[in-house]
Amino acid sequence: MTSYTVLNPATEQPVSTVPGTSSEETDAAIARAEVAQRAWRSVAPGDRASLLRAFAAQVDAHAEELARLEVENSGHPVGAARWEAGQVRDVLQYYAAAPERLIGKQIPVAGGLNVTFAEPLGVVGLIVPWNFPMPILSWGMAPALAAGNTVVAKPAEMTPLTAMRIGELALEAGLPEHVFQVLPGKGSVVGQRLVHHPAVRKIVFTGSTEVGQQIMAGCAKQVKRLTLELGGKSANIVFADADIERAAATAPYAVFDNAGQDCCARSRILVQRSALEKFMGLLEPAVKSIRVGDPTLADTEMGPLISASHRANVAKYVPDGAPVAFRGSAPAGPGYWFPPTVLAPIGSGAPAYTDEIFGPVVTVTPFEDEADAIEIANDTPYGLSGSIWTSNIGRAIRVARAVETGNLSVNSHSSVRYWTPFGGFKQSGLGRELGPDALDAFTETKNVFISTQE
Ligand code: NDP
Repeated sequence: MTSYTVLNPATEQPVSTVPGTSSEETDAAIARAEVAQRAWRSVAPGDRASLLRAFAAQVDAHAEELARLEVENSGHPVGAARWEAGQVRDVLQYYAAAPERLIGKQIPVAGGLNVTFAEPLGVVGLIVPWNFPMPILSWGMAPALAAGNTVVAKPAEMTPLTAMRIGELALEAGLPEHVFQVLPGKGSVVGQRLVHHPAVRKIVFTGSTEVGQQIMAGCAKQVKRLTLELGGKSANIVFADADIERAAATAPYAVFDNAGQDCCARSRILVQRSALEKFMGLLEPAVKSIRVGDPTLADTEMGPLISASHRANVAKYVPDGAPVAFRGSAPAGPGYWFPPTVLAPIGSGAPAYTDEIFGPVVTVTPFEDEADAIEIANDTPYGLSGSIWTSNIGRAIRVARAVETGNLSVNSHSSVRYWTPFGGFKQSGLGRELGPDALDAFTETKNVFISTQE
């Protein structure tokens, strides 16, 4: 086993040395998970629920430790990291109710009885990105385990520490060995083995659309089940009849949360032309007042980017001479810092307008009317998220139905809740996570006819 060093993105200092799992070790872990699944699926529903509740309690008891680990490993502000650890607990609690509710149907048929069962799939592979290591892990892990599957998770190479600790907490909570395993390592090694190993019956992947396409092709060879959560370039649509003060005050949080490294980032602000001047006048102080800096401090709102190479990618979208309307601040010195940046005016063909930047850069584009706003919002291969600001309820519903995207908020800047469905339209993904129907993605329906003939 080789090992590698993970860095603190706020200081560029080493945090820990982590084993890089090999292909052979991945195969061995999958074999262990396959054996463990036979017993796990047979654990009585109430007992499986109790174990998941104990797991949630164990996460809760170590929430501060997990948050501090995430601050060091990912550079997330500690307030955000605390929320993320709490999310793991809440998602486990929510799906702990599921084992006792995996209810089938009885269907009327002649000459007997027809019943359906929701059967677990077997071993589930989770491939997790670096932007939200804890929440995204839990979104796949909790419903998969609740449904009676075992889970092999591969965290992103740069951010494995919280996932590894959560794996230990599962054992401390009493989950049987090998029911939930975490394998740090490379996507090209561990991730590929999960995709190609025939005993892995489902992949849950969150990450780039490009890698998602490769994974989809790999899964096709075995008709392997697949959930994809991919990129986004979401619109924040502000109509002139909206509460412009609130729309402008919250717009920075809709895009610069997690330094813009958020698939749901509303990174294209579309403003009705008649309100543009007022909106920009209010947006400028809102952007300049974002507290960017030391992520260990409770009042910090934005931390660094994840790595030097990612910062270089983000910086390409703001070359010398770029139409920077205004910027926020960023610390000097060590750390992968990048200031919140607003680009305007920006043409529809510009890379900053079309590409997912995954950093704290937002474009502002004026529109004329409702039809124009919908056309611009849909002018992207992505469709993950978005917001609509208007005081006209009919318009809110019309535009929400017309924008081709999976998760929208009206007069609010956020739309992700663990008890509501989450997923993308178009090239933003396939399938839905979270909410009450997520169990469907981790079970197959079995249909059984039982004759009552003598
Ligand atoms: P990647 O798609 O490169 O990586 C995501 C995960 O997949 C990581 O665990 C990675 O491992 C793994 N992986 C990489 N290549 C393979 C492969 N060939 N087979 C199996 N697994 C693989 O995304 P990044 O993390 O680099 O993020 C870049 C882009 O991803 C962003 O710009 C954004 O578009 C998108 N993204 C979307 C997210 C969402 O929530 N929808 C979340 C995060 C990113 P490793 O770390 O070893 O490379």
